[in-house]
Amino acid sequence: MAQGEEQPGAKLAEGKKHFVIVGGSLGGLAAGLALKELGHDTTILERNPTPVLEHQGAGIVAGGDTLAFFKKYNRCDRPIAVTSHRRQYLDKDGNVTHKEDMDQNMTSWDLAYYLMRTNYDGVENSYCKVPDGKPTDGKAVHLHDRTVTDIQARAAGIEVFWTSSGGEQGSIQADVLIGADGPSSTVRSILAPEVQRVYAGYCALRGTVREDEVSDAAREAFCERFTFFHRRGVQILAYLIPGKDGAVEPGRRLINFVYYTNFPEGSPELEEIMTDRDGKRRRITMPPGLTAPEAWEKQRRIARERLPPQFAEIVCATQRPFVQAVTDVLSPTNEFLDGRVVLIGDALAGFRPHTVASTSQAAFDAMVLAEYVAGKVSREEWKRQTLGFARFIQKRGVDMGNRSQFEDLPLEEHIHDRNVASVPREKEVYPEWATAI
Ligand SMILES: Cc1cc2nc3c(=O)[nH]c(=O)nc-3n(C[C@H](O)[C@H](O)[C@H](O)COP(=O)(O)OP(=O)(O)OC[C@H]3O[C@@H](n4cnc5c(N)ncnc54)[C@H](O)[C@@H]3O)c2cc1C
Repeated sequence: MAQGEEQPGAKLAEGKKHFVIVGGSLGGLAAGLALKELGHDTTILERNPTPVLEHQGAGIVAGGDTLAFFKKYNRCDRPIAVTSHRRQYLDKDGNVTHKEDMDQNMTSWDLAYYLMRTNYDGVENSYCKVPDGKPTDGKAVHLHDRTVTDIQARAAGIEVFWTSSGGEQGSIQADVLIGADGPSSTVRSILAPEVQRVYAGYCALRGTVREDEVSDAAREAFCERFTFFHRRGVQILAYLIPGKDGAVEPGRRLINFVYYTNFPEGSPELEEIMTDRDGKRRRITMPPGLTAPEAWEKQRRIARERLPPQFAEIVCATQRPFVQAVTDVLSPTNEFLDGRVVLIGDALAGFRPHTVASTSQAAFDAMVLAEYVAGKVSREEWKRQTLGFARFIQKRGVDMGNRSQFEDLPLEEHIHDRNVASVPREKEVYPEWATAI
């Protein structure tokens, strides 16, 4: 549909704008970069009290949209991923029972973050040289320690209110606000308070180990391989990611694992794993290094009993494990207040990690939004594409996760689910319920 004056949001594609972006993680930075490239001014408000977010994540499967995003917007000349050449499944004794040759690219959250930050606002870092700007770039401002607390529609645009950890308060005026503030989005909770983020009944225990510090058997199982093990209530997978400062040379990379295991809501086991070393109950994420030592020691014992030896080895060797409670959340739409507010990434739809699509969604949402803002796609097309992706993949994650954690499936079914999740986005055919706007 052509963009007409009467359409809400149509103004988005007219003239130079100031976009305020709530959230300075991968989604917010991706949107900032794409809009800066179009010549628009952007201000990112990130609640984290320190200037950069780092050492809080681990591995990311870099799907087609993530790679396409970096190809389009990254001006740093360096490798961005490690390639795995085979997907394979182990039995309990550690033997390979199924394998498929297939290239997949894996990166680290820190490398993706620093590449985006340095391209966005020129942050100095040890991953890459700060690239030169272009005269046509819009102004790119990143403000940390800004927790957004409220928004108010104004005659032209929107006012965004924030507080700092020191109690300072302020507001900033935007033409358009982008909510890239993650699965517990404040922006979404103001505009769609009925949306709830719900615990799925299991957690992902995560961590990394250096590839040069594991046994030959573990190196053989995980180096340049995407390796899985399933049993009732358990799924663990591992792959190589760039190491310190984004190193991709053999010997300097990290083995990254994601170990899904059931912790029923309200159970003492869930309380134990989500209570940190200082006794504080973490609701959704236990950051690296804060896991209570006794709770982790117990997980090590369990890992030795029920995982193949190569997987047990890396779980037991990890020094800074972290825990993510797996949750579901989906916003009914991505556009509010006559187009003054747009939601992207996890704020729009928080996927289960099995989909390996969260960063791809953030990258895709940023790219399509930029096309809409540039007048290259219509409002309707932008909504169909981004809502279609959000709803379809969100449901896929729920189905995959529930089948994997709560059903007793033969390995072929798990392989089938994984292969379905690897279909490139351009080849997906979304059902009507996913693209309804
Ligand atoms: C520190 C960190 C580490 C991560 N590590 C991994 C990883 O290793 N592997 C992986 O697959 N995914 C990881 N993720 C998640 C991954 O970034 C997202 O799933 C995906 O990239 C989509 O990102 P997003 O920007 O939409 O949401 P998120 O990454 O969740 O980011 C939301 C951002 O908004 C900020 N924010 C929230 N509320 C407010 C507010 N009221 N005011 C201002 N700012 C606010 C948060 O501090 C956060 O930086 C990580 C996320 C974070 C924040």
